Amino acid sequence: MYARGIRVSLSQAESARRELIRTGAIDTSLFLLREEKGVVIPVTGLVACREGWEPCFAVFREKRSVRGGYRELLEPGDWKMSLPGSFDVLGTKALIKLQPELHDRQNGIGDAILKANGSLDSVFRDDGVSGEYRIRKLTLIAGTGGTETSVSEYGLKFRLDVAKTFYSPRLAVERKRVASAVLPGERILDMFAGVGPFSISAARAAAGGTVTAFDINPYALSYLKENAALNRIVNVECHLGDSMAIEQGVPFDRIIMNLPQDGGRFVGKAMSLLANGGFIHYYERTEQAGIAARVSSLEEAFDGLRVVDVRMVKSYSPAEGIYHLLMTRDR
Ligand code: SAM
Repeated sequence: MYARGIRVSLSQAESARRELIRTGAIDTSLFLLREEKGVVIPVTGLVACREGWEPCFAVFREKRSVRGGYRELLEPGDWKMSLPGSFDVLGTKALIKLQPELHDRQNGIGDAILKANGSLDSVFRDDGVSGEYRIRKLTLIAGTGGTETSVSEYGLKFRLDVAKTFYSPRLAVERKRVASAVLPGERILDMFAGVGPFSISAARAAAGGTVTAFDINPYALSYLKENAALNRIVNVECHLGDSMAIEQGVPFDRIIMNLPQDGGRFVGKAMSLLANGGFIHYYERTEQAGIAARVSSLEEAFDGLRVVDVRMVKSYSPAEGIYHLLMTRDR
C-alpha cells in the first residue's frame, strides 16, 4: 500500500518508532519498510519531524494481508467467498466471526489461521457480545485454548481474559481521541471501565487529576487494577459496582460512557454527576437514519444537556451505527 512514512537511519529507528507509538502517529496496520541504510516507518498523517527524520511516501506491506494469508492454505471452492475479510487479534488469540454455513469447516479454518500467523496460540469462533458484562460467546476452534492474553495500545499494555471481560481492539483509535481531549488536573469518571483502556489512557493524560472507574464485572475490575499497576498509573480509583448507584460528590469534569447497547438509561445519572461546562463522551448504538432525532430527544429529556458533536465510530449493521455524542451541561 502506498502511504505516508518517516525515513530514519538504523541508529534512530528504535527511538523514532517509540516516539511515533507514543504520539499515536504510527500506522499499525502496515509493516515497517526495511531499506539498506535505515527503515521507513508508516504514519497515519502529517508528523512534526525531529532531526534526522525524512518525511516521504513508500509502498508498505499490509498486516491484514498476512492475516488474510490463511485463506491460501484452505482448499479452493466457492465456499471461501463466505469467509470474513478480517478477524480480531488480541495478543495471542484470534477471534473470528463465522457464518453458520462455515461452522462444519471451523477447525480447518482455525488451523489455517494458526499456520499463517506464528504469533497466535488459539483461534476462537466469536458469536458476539451479550449480557450485562458484554462478554463474547467464544468456541475454541484451534490451538491450546487459554483465554488470558496481553494487548498493546499506543504504548499501554492491558492484560485481559477474552472469555470473561470485554475488550475491543477496534476502539483503540477512539480511546486515543478521548484521551487527547483530556486536560491535566481533570476529574474524570469512567462509568463502564472494563479492563481499563479508556480509564488508563485518560489517567495518563490527566496529570495531577484522577479517574474514578466503575465496573460491575469482578473479573474486569481485577484486570483493571492489574493494568493500572502494569502501566504504573497511580491516579485511577477502581470500584466494583453498579454505576447507577454512584453517589454525588465533587462534580466530574469529564464522564466516559461506553455501554452502547444500554447507556441511555444512565444519562440522567451522568448529568447529575457532571460539573457545569463538563463533557460526557457518550456511545450509543442507533439507527443511522434516526441519529438527528435521537440527539433532539436527549436534549429535550435532560435539562441543560447540549450535544456539541456527533460522530459515527463504526457501522454496526447496514442500518445502524455506534455513535459518539459529545455532550455538555450548560446549566
Ligand atoms: N470501557 C471498556 C472498554 O472500552 O473496553 C468496557 C466497555 S464494555 C462495552 C461495557 C462494560 O460495562 C462491561 O465491562 C460491563 O461489565 C460494564 N457494565 C455493564 N453494566 C454496568 C453497570 N450498571 N455499572 C457498571 N458497569 C457496568
